[in-house]
Amino acid sequence: MDGQARRSIIHLDMDAFFASVEQLDNPALRGRPVIVGGSPRSRGVVSTASYEARRFGVRSAMPTGRALALCPTAVLVTPRIQRYVEISRRVRRVLDDYTDLIEPVSIDEAFLDVTATVATTGRSATAIAREIKERVARETGLTASVGVAPNKLLAKLASDLKKPNGFVVLDEAAAERLLPEMPVRQLWGIGAKTEMSLNRIGVFTIGDLRRMDEGLLARLFGSRAEELALLARGIDHRPVEPRQEVKSIGAETTFADDVRDRERLASALGGFADEVAERLREHRFLARTVTVKVRLADFTSLTRSQTLPQPTDEEDVLQGAAVSLLDRAVPGSHPIRLIGLAVSNFLRPGDLYQANLPF
Ligand SMILES: [Mg+2]
Repeated sequence: MDGQARRSIIHLDMDAFFASVEQLDNPALRGRPVIVGGSPRSRGVVSTASYEARRFGVRSAMPTGRALALCPTAVLVTPRIQRYVEISRRVRRVLDDYTDLIEPVSIDEAFLDVTATVATTGRSATAIAREIKERVARETGLTASVGVAPNKLLAKLASDLKKPNGFVVLDEAAAERLLPEMPVRQLWGIGAKTEMSLNRIGVFTIGDLRRMDEGLLARLFGSRAEELALLARGIDHRPVEPRQEVKSIGAETTFADDVRDRERLASALGGFADEVAERLREHRFLARTVTVKVRLADFTSLTRSQTLPQPTDEEDVLQGAAVSLLDRAVPGSHPIRLIGLAVSNFLRPGDLYQANLPF
């Protein structure tokens, strides 16, 4: 498909993790709709819904009040992060037996690069992935969905295909049959807002995206257009990166032309807010600080930061803060070459855990 050496990537994603742990620990909750989340009285949101609750339309990040209105029989459980961290570590110890190249995406999800493991043991990636899935089930009592593919994009799509308790091997030929019909939202980096703006110009599927004019793609996505065009063809060179601690999450683009139009800048910031919020939710982080970075046509660089009154993972809050930071950084209508949005100063699920340690 392209010139790079063939890799074997596994994506493992625990099924409805927080809710499944609650059902594991409390047999009375098994087979019942369970919502793990904040109380509606404190305007809490759903952290995870069990599959029984999802059937009623309950989704992560939905206000708990709305979730309970959709599914009045659901049992609401307050998150026990310490317990989830403990089980997550147990999963991690299983994964550690197969490779050093593990990239945790969040408390319940990880990529593994087993290319070297395949070469040294002579076992197939599929056999290794099956064994991992079975051992995770045996050692935690919980199911995971597993995808095996030549890259991260396809491995993640594969693990999503037959959730819960899925096991899908996706090679290039199978991916080629599936990709064109999939919604663009499935591509890495495309969130709800970007999807909406693509839909407005008639781009709904990955196939539609592939057929988009190159110039238009570059105008909409700036320097990210090339990567997106590759992803749409199922090509993804991103390595599996063992986690250094994530200190900030950001997105930026360089425009092909200098941009003065505030609406276009605000919509670029909206797209970044979207992408950043999605990645925050994947990590289960809340961000306290928003930073906007701008490079003007004369190559002057400016950054402006703001600490939010409440930590957040919501795209609208991030976009609002970003637009007002942009107005402060660049009043008037200077031509802008590059614009970026980043968040930092995270509140992490583990923080709660650390805070609860008795020493
Ligand atoms: Mg999961």
